[in-house]
Parts: sequence; structure tokens; C-alpha cells
Amino acid sequence: MHGVALLGASGSIGASTVAVLRAHRDRFRLHAVAARANWQALLPLIAEFEPELCALADPSAAAALRDAITTRYPRVRVEAGEAAVNAAATLAAVDVVVAGISGFAGLPSTWAAVDAGKSVLLANKEALVASGTMLLERARARGAHVLPVDSEHNAVYQCASGLLCAPERVRAITLTASGGPFRSRDLSTFAAITPDEACRHPTWSMGRKISVDSATLMNKGLEVIEASLLFARPAEDIAVLIHPSSTVHALVEFVDGSILAHLGPADMQVPIAHAFAQAAALRDGSPQPELARLALAVPRLSLARLGVLEFSAVDAARYPALGLAYAALRQGQGACLALNAANEVAVAAFLDGRCRYTDIVPVVADALERAELAAPTSVDEVFARDRAVRALAAERLAVRQVH
Ligand code: MG
Repeated sequence: MHGVALLGASGSIGASTVAVLRAHRDRFRLHAVAARANWQALLPLIAEFEPELCALADPSAAAALRDAITTRYPRVRVEAGEAAVNAAATLAAVDVVVAGISGFAGLPSTWAAVDAGKSVLLANKEALVASGTMLLERARARGAHVLPVDSEHNAVYQCASGLLCAPERVRAITLTASGGPFRSRDLSTFAAITPDEACRHPTWSMGRKISVDSATLMNKGLEVIEASLLFARPAEDIAVLIHPSSTVHALVEFVDGSILAHLGPADMQVPIAHAFAQAAALRDGSPQPELARLALAVPRLSLARLGVLEFSAVDAARYPALGLAYAALRQGQGACLALNAANEVAVAAFLDGRCRYTDIVPVVADALERAELAAPTSVDEVFARDRAVRALAAERLAVRQVH
């Protein structure tokens, strides 16, 4: 039996993870759940799994949850604050941590899980983008396996049979992008795009921040950086293709010209189940962990019904965020951190109606021009640098010179 902590339990990764765990209760036990403030979303999880610890970053949400469950579930502890979320990630009974908290907010608990030597199912890309190889080096030092859950990276992992994409074996990696809801929208109307339009993703159902990132393709930009770090390949070896149906998630081209592609339903249960199977096999010392699979009952992909697989190059004018992300990757870790921080501030402002859709990329570009871009050398420095870039982006939004 493998103990599990689910961080980001109230979000879409949380829901998909719960579906996988429900189907495999004989092998995985949910010991801890964490969320920011949505305590109501934890109630059905408590009823179904009775985890020993529920962590809520927001203290008033923790108090409300405690009031709601104490009589009925006296054995379930409810704790508040960031320390409680980190405690959920490092609980002794936990072997596998699902890092599903969205944004930079997921960084402390992801680090805590890695530090504690847990197997980390990484759905949060911002922690890796912001702290770069430091996180992976720490994982190696602590014996923590980092397993990608992001569908594209999980697909690369499956095609390459692991993280080993050395140049003597792998020539190039291609990540696919659906192109989001504005793939064919008239460019002259982009300034009028509303948050709800940006969150209406054609193939994946996700949280609002990542949905906006998927519309701008900043999400793909962060994924290129994530792939560069996970698979240790430079920017020029990682390509992006527009592929509207999100059927092929990634392709790996080998040095002999063979290309392996990963196809599957656009359902996050698929990469999550794969990562759980890997984590369990690695922890059990299986001789061939890459063969491990967990059965899922998600609707099967029908290629006959789909008929065609359509691919096209990325239009740089439509998706300027992707070029910005490639430029940041070429500039180095400090620039990647700044790109992520400024993007989070700009996307939050757009979702709150404080700036236009077309202001997001200029705010990020401005922050990249003005931020300190030297690579951070410690986690404390990552936090300090993140705060400084957020202040720059907020300043830019406040002066309203972003048009
Ligand atoms: Mg993805």
C-alpha cells in the first residue's frame, strides 16, 4: 500500500487524482489533502477516504471545515496555513505527493515533498520553471522521484521510457498545443476578449489561470521550459506544434529518424494514472518500472471517429507569449522565473478585469526587460526575486501604459 498526499485537492488535478485513487484503493491510500480555501470541496473526500490530515492555507476556511466535521470525523485533523500544507506533503505515512497546487503558490510544498524524499507527481509547472535545476538536483540528492503529470511531459516520459533524452539517443522533442479558444478568432478583436471567453478551453477542462495561459500559449511556453529542465535539452531541441484535437500529446524523435508519439484521451486521469504506476513501481524496486500501468475506465480514444490528425506551425503574431518564453529559456533561470511571476500578475489582473487580454504579453515583456535576470542560487533568492518581479508587473499595470 502506498500512502498519498493530494495537494490542490479542490482543483481539476485533484478531481482527476481522486478518480484514479478511487479505482485503485487496493494499492493507494489517501492520507492527506490540501487546498487553499475551498473547504467545502474537501467534504466528499473526507467522507470517502477519511484522510488523517486536511490542510487549508486559509485559516478561516480551516476553522469552518473543523466546525463542519469534528463531531462526525474525530480522527481527521484539520490544520491551517502554509506550514500545514507543507506538513501534508511530508507526513510520514505519505510516499507519493501529487503537487497539484496551481501557480507559484505550489512551490513551497513541492520543495517540502522533494526534501522529504517523497515521489512527487508534478502537475504544478511553476515550481519547476521558477526554481529550475535546483529542484531537480535536490530531488536527486534526497532520492525523490519527480514524475511529470503535465500531459505533454508525461507523454514524452512514456515515449522516451523515462527522463533520459540524451542527445546520443533523442534528437528532438515536440509538444503539441490545442491552440486554445482563439485559434481562428480575428486578431483585430483580441483586445475585446473577456475572461470567460479565455477560460472556455476547447479540449481540456481546467482552472482559470491555466486556461488563460492555454489561450495565450504561455502555458505551452512554461511547458517548453519545464521540458527543457526535466529532459535536460536546450530550447532549440524542443518544438511546439498546433494540434487542435489534443489527441497526440507529444512526440519524441530519436537519432535514427524514428518518431514515437503518445496518443490518448484528453483526460488528466491518463497521465496521473501513469505517474502513479511509475511511482509505485519505482518504490517497489520493480526491475522494469517503465512497463507499469494502472487500468482506467475512461472513454477510449477512437481514431476511426476522429478521422484525421491535424498539425500546423505556431503563428507568432497570434501567440507572442510563446516566443517570449523561448527567449526567457535562452536567457536562463532568472528570466524564466521573471516570466512566470509577471505572467501570474498579468493573468490575475486580466481575470479581475483590471487589464485587457492584449496587455498580458506586454506586461510580461516589460518585466523581463526591467527585472534582475541573474540566476538565483537559493530557494530564498527565488522567493525574493519572485516578489520583486511581481512588484514590477503590478507597477506597470498601475501606470496603465501597457497598450
Ligand atoms: Mg499541459
